[in-house]
Amino acid sequence: MKKRIPPFIDYYEALELPYGATAEAIKSNFRKLAKIFHPDNTETGSEESFLKILSAYQVLSTGKRSVYDEIYKKIQAARFLKEQVSLSSPIILPPSRVSFSTGILDLAKRGLMRKGFRTKDRRKVTGINYDIIIRIKERETFRRIIATIPLTVRIVCRDCMGGNPHCPACNGAGSYKSSRNLKVEFPPSTLQNNRLFEFDLSKFRPDSFTHFKKKLLKVKLQIEKKITLAV
Ligand SMILES: [Zn+2]
Repeated sequence: MKKRIPPFIDYYEALELPYGATAEAIKSNFRKLAKIFHPDNTETGSEESFLKILSAYQVLSTGKRSVYDEIYKKIQAARFLKEQVSLSSPIILPPSRVSFSTGILDLAKRGLMRKGFRTKDRRKVTGINYDIIIRIKERETFRRIIATIPLTVRIVCRDCMGGNPHCPACNGAGSYKSSRNLKVEFPPSTLQNNRLFEFDLSKFRPDSFTHFKKKLLKVKLQIEKKITLAV
């Protein structure tokens, strides 16, 4: 059987004092709270609360305090470290938060996605000046964000290097369609609503055979505020 470790009780908090409070403050707060929680007090008495402040007082007002303080410091340091680690580790966004700019379907229907129709012209028509939208929750903006963007790529046929119209591997197409996941990272300082980011895709090419359809990828961030319902 595992030995059960009793939960650590913050005696300073119990006496409504900060760590390192003076002996006088401990005594005075204990007296004040004891009057409130004493079971004889018919209005505010509470045996549980009274026993808690009594234990706190019996430790903090005696020689046991120095031992308790040592443990207290270690636990606080461990808590602080844990918090720091969780704050510094990135948030990996689920794929559902990454979407192609709204209106792509609409654009396709209107024929605006056809080859030769330049992004510049498309933007002029629709006002959409980004390719990808990434949704982040407001409470996530204190951490580094990592998002994965799926992108269509063309890969040059390695069998014929794109030069054989009779190549059996690519049926003479010279290249084939594939997809690659692009990992992008946003430091907390950049997480602003509606901010646009441009990624030069040439820097992300995994090898010389892979070609992204676009040169520049425009990503828009959307910070979603927590919606609180008015009561
Ligand atoms: Zn080929």
